[in-house]
Amino acid sequence: MLIVMKPGATDAEVDSVVRIIEELGYKAHPMPGATRTAIGITGNQTSVDASHFENLAGVAEAIRVSKPYKLISLDLRPEKTVVRVGDAAIGGEELAIIAGPCAIESRAQAFSIAEAVRRSGARFFRGGAYKPRTSPYAFQGLGEEGLRILAEIRETYGLKIVTEALDENGIDLVERYGDVIQIGARNMQNFSLLRRAGKSSLPILLKRGLSATLDEWLLAAEYIMSEGNYQIVLCERGIRTFAQHTRNTLDLASIPAVRRLSHLPVIVDPSHGTGKNYMVTPLARAGVAVGADGLIVEVHDQPEHALSDGAQALTLSQYEELVSEVRAIHEVIMPATVG
Ligand code: PEP
Ligand code: MN
Repeated sequence: MLIVMKPGATDAEVDSVVRIIEELGYKAHPMPGATRTAIGITGNQTSVDASHFENLAGVAEAIRVSKPYKLISLDLRPEKTVVRVGDAAIGGEELAIIAGPCAIESRAQAFSIAEAVRRSGARFFRGGAYKPRTSPYAFQGLGEEGLRILAEIRETYGLKIVTEALDENGIDLVERYGDVIQIGARNMQNFSLLRRAGKSSLPILLKRGLSATLDEWLLAAEYIMSEGNYQIVLCERGIRTFAQHTRNTLDLASIPAVRRLSHLPVIVDPSHGTGKNYMVTPLARAGVAVGADGLIVEVHDQPEHALSDGAQALTLSQYEELVSEVRAIHEVIMPATVG
């Protein structure tokens, strides 16, 4: 159920609806919007009786939600969510660029890449301290030492840090050193991790699972939101198909598909989405052209020596060129995607 308040409803009227929802044993999710506040109700196993709300002061209507998700949907919030990370944002008018290495390998490596990322005007730096590797013998990341390097980069360059947490304990650590918690493709349906992310005060970057449908991906975001964390960015990073010419198939049609259903910002990862250096820039351009709110891109100062994902890493100069190209495309299409 979704309670839509009248445009002029007062805070006290919203509070009293919230109180009644809580007295019924449910959880209330008030979402203030540009023209009205809507209040989502979760925690009910059976349908909620609309008559509890219909005659309350300030209530416009009580709507039964037929879709499997409630909080992430445009029914609850018709305007786009802008995820704010300090003075930076994802989902606003500016194209968000998150760039950096797949993994933090050393202080020198991370700083030389961060320098280029800062120079490009991007506001976010990515880099894994904990890596979900297919082989247990592959480089697993520097762990907490990697997080300390990331925190130093934040301090030095003012870049916001986006880094992956593999488990609940990882979230505790990223909360200490980072700005945005990445939940990787392999963890998209790790429900206990999603619930823990929902209790975090940091925004969550939720990657699409390797074989996830659009509904499964959105329901994973709903898990996070149902715990009270509304700051979520979706990330299309490609899915497994029969194609052999790419590492994954970057499903750019998911961008307008998400847009039609959800108020959440959605970005594109052309690095994991293709796995090949020469494809990253063309697919980054396409991602922005199709209306993505941003990009997450892997960059390395010496791709040939990278400890993970070297084949898809852009060189610093390729990255610089990508940024100027995608900014130009964003300028052209922005009026169509804002609002
Ligand atoms: C990554 O961003 O380096 C990563 C492991 O991504 P994904 O979860 O999309 O594979
Ligand atoms: Mn990677």
